[in-house]
Amino acid sequence: MEEQATICPACGSSATYRYGRTINGKKRRICMICNRQFIVDGPRKNDAVRPNCPVCNQPMHRYMQKRGFTRYRCSNYPQCRTYLRIDKPEKSSQPASFSDAKPPYLS
Ligand SMILES: [Zn+2]
Ligand SMILES: [Zn+2]
Repeated sequence: MEEQATICPACGSSATYRYGRTINGKKRRICMICNRQFIVDGPRKNDAVRPNCPVCNQPMHRYMQKRGFTRYRCSNYPQCRTYLRIDKPEKSSQPASFSDAKPPYLS
C-alpha cells in the first residue's frame, strides 16, 4: 500500500520515496530529483510555523520539540548548520518571530 504522492518541499517534485523514519517516528522521505530528505508530518499542517532558514532561505525542518519551544534545523543540513529555536506562542496567535535581522541579500 503506497501513500499518496508527497511533494518535495525543496523542488516541488512528486518523485519521492520512503526513507525510513526519524527518531520521533515521523515518516521520512527522500527526493529523487534533488536528493533532499524531508519529513512527512502527517495531515496536521497548521500546528506549527515552519520557518525558512535565515541564512540560505531553505525551509526548515522541525528537529526537536520541547515544552515551550521547538527547534528547527535547516533542510540544507549539513551544508548549512543553522538552527532556530522558536518559542511556542502562549497567548497570542501571532506567528513566532525568530530574528528581525534578515540578511539584506535575501530581500
Ligand atoms: Zn526535491
Ligand atoms: Zn540554511
